[in-house]
Amino acid sequence: MKQLDIYGNEISLEETESKPLDHQGGRTTLKTWFRNCHGFRQGFYCKNCKFFEIKMRKGQVYHKCVKMSTSSCRETDIRKNDIACNLYESKK
Ligand code: SF4
Repeated sequence: MKQLDIYGNEISLEETESKPLDHQGGRTTLKTWFRNCHGFRQGFYCKNCKFFEIKMRKGQVYHKCVKMSTSSCRETDIRKNDIACNLYESKK
């Protein structure tokens, strides 16, 4: 199947589809979006980053990234052992 591009040229539909972001459970999470922007820094982990935060609320522990968001929403949770992003800065 073909479609016209903005210049009137015929192109196949496969070419019009942009590369999808990595999806988790059929939707793009904030963490996925953040990782697509800031990449990965292999060999380093979020738990050693100065932007990593541990929050306690109603007896439960939540791990957050200050750079990403610290809302109380589950969507902004990260894991201690996530591979660090390129914004990683070591704790002192
Ligand atoms: S490494 Fe990146 S994602 Fe992980 S806590 Fe630090 S800034 Fe946040």
